[in-house]
Amino acid sequence: MPATLIKQRRGKAGIFRYQGIVPLTKDGTSAIRTLNTLKVRLVLSFGLLILAATTVGTWLTSDLAVNALRKSTGQNLQEVSVQLRDKIDLDLHERYSDLAVAAALSSQQLLKQQTGDITVLLNALAANFSSYAWIGLTSADGTVLASTGNLLKGMDVSHRPWFQEVRDGPYLGDVHEALLLEEKLNNDTGAPLRFVDVAVPLQDADGNFNGVLGAHLYLDWVASIGQSLLSPLQDRLQAELILADKNGVVMIGPEGSVGQKLNEQLLQAANSDIPGYVTLPMAMTGEDSTEPYLVGYSRLRDREEYATLNWLVLVRKPAIEAFQPARALRNTLIYGGALLALMLITFAVFTARRTTRPLLQMAREADRIDFNNPSSLIQLRDDYEEVRVLSSVLRDLLHRLARKTQQMNDLNASLEHRVSERTRALEDANRLLEETVRTDALTGLNNRRYFFELGRTALKKAIRAGKPVSAIMFDADMFKKINDTYGHAVGDKALIHLSVMAQEALRDTDILARLGGEEFAVLLESTEESIAGEVAERLRSTINGKPLPLERGELTISVSAGVACLYPEGGDDLDSLLAQADKALYAAKSGGRNQVALYSRLDDHSASPGLA
Ligand code: GH3
Ligand code: MG
Ligand code: MG
Repeated sequence: MPATLIKQRRGKAGIFRYQGIVPLTKDGTSAIRTLNTLKVRLVLSFGLLILAATTVGTWLTSDLAVNALRKSTGQNLQEVSVQLRDKIDLDLHERYSDLAVAAALSSQQLLKQQTGDITVLLNALAANFSSYAWIGLTSADGTVLASTGNLLKGMDVSHRPWFQEVRDGPYLGDVHEALLLEEKLNNDTGAPLRFVDVAVPLQDADGNFNGVLGAHLYLDWVASIGQSLLSPLQDRLQAELILADKNGVVMIGPEGSVGQKLNEQLLQAANSDIPGYVTLPMAMTGEDSTEPYLVGYSRLRDREEYATLNWLVLVRKPAIEAFQPARALRNTLIYGGALLALMLITFAVFTARRTTRPLLQMAREADRIDFNNPSSLIQLRDDYEEVRVLSSVLRDLLHRLARKTQQMNDLNASLEHRVSERTRALEDANRLLEETVRTDALTGLNNRRYFFELGRTALKKAIRAGKPVSAIMFDADMFKKINDTYGHAVGDKALIHLSVMAQEALRDTDILARLGGEEFAVLLESTEESIAGEVAERLRSTINGKPLPLERGELTISVSAGVACLYPEGGDDLDSLLAQADKALYAAKSGGRNQVALYSRLDDHSASPGLA
């Protein structure tokens, strides 16, 4: 392959051309090529991997955190609920014990008709537990015999549930309002007072029903237990208490919820005696909030001595608040993950750049190499193993390529040299051929063919310029005799001598030719016939005046010449001009030879000569 071809390919396509920033084309193919680089591939692969790993990691971790938090917070709420339930249970049991003891004592007092002492006892009991609203002792027929603060004393309470149901054993009565009592008590809360009843039967020594010792407890007592239990935890827990009766009707709870029924979903979840926690929307009847709550629940259990109230103790907290730390953690994880991903991707970009840089540098170095003059090849690199191998292979390849290029350049140079030599020789040969075609071999004068070529051109020029052209035809006299006398070789010499003499006698601009044998012609541009006649005379006399020196003696040669002229209006026919000159030559011969005849001077233009 010639070196020029390599040059072209290098220049056009750039075999090793590094195109760092490829300009965008309309069809976007170059943009795609720019994206399809090792660097972009590395960054994209690692970037996607890192993003996927960070996303999955963040998601898993935050999910675990939410679950763990749900469990721990749920268990906390459940625990508080259980503690609250146990405290309520314990308090109720204490009240029962109080009343049971007081009842035993009161039976004795009653027998002794000492109701005053009983009142003292009851007041002492009430002082001992602040949530007693009222404690009273009734007779077997339901008349209040003694009571705290003597409230309702003498009144008939036989129709009250606590009186009626206590005959069968200790009685715990669910929450109710007590209008009669409320009137007597100073209620400054604004809301109706609600009470829980505890009652035990009085029995005489024989075990006969003798009356009832009953107490009303302010329901607020439960709220205050909740308060005292929750408040130390409130900083951490931020929970609220809901107390519902066994049917799920709220007795204590957030504002507006009292009297509402808990939703079925929650009741079903909390139906069993086993405490637990659950996350669900907790709209009270009538509410339309779907906000989910995390709720810990437990139920009051029955006791051996009495059936309890099966109250439902709930401690709840909005899920959104409960999971706030998890959300905060998740946000931290997301931001941290994003930051980590960003750092890793930056690292990936850096690594990708470090990986591809040696490759691009090699490409640039290779691209810069001038194979026609390779002063240096690419460096051996050891950035990493693949690059080391590649640089070594590439260097070797370029080395061989440079050598081959050098060889081809040398070959090309010698070829060019040979071609130019041949061209020169061919041009010389052509020139020679042209001269041969144009010149007469013996005399070196223009030959007949070239004379006609030059003559026609000269004629056209003269006609364009409006100038006359003259022709002289001349012929050696008695040449046959010269040949016969001296031999053909001397005849040839005589012809050459004649030519030289003729050239001497003529101007450079005159066109001289040997037409054949011993016959010659001259064409004279811008020359009238008379001037041409003078030239012809000079020609004749020069030839005749300078004989050819021979080995012995010399040879005088004479010529006869005929002259004719063509004027611009006279046409452009060279043949007829020469024919006219020939006629004049004939006349010169006829006139005795060694003379000039002018065509215009011929008497008879067809034959007879005019004298010069
Ligand atoms: P004239 O005065 O009437 O012209 O007589 P001439 O003898 O010159 O005319 P002719 O035509 O009878 O003879 C011409 C001779 O010129 C014949 C020929 O041998 C000779 N001749 C023609 N060409 C050459 C040539 O190249 N060399 C030699 N040596 N002789 C030539
Ligand atoms: Mg002759
Ligand atoms: Mg002749």
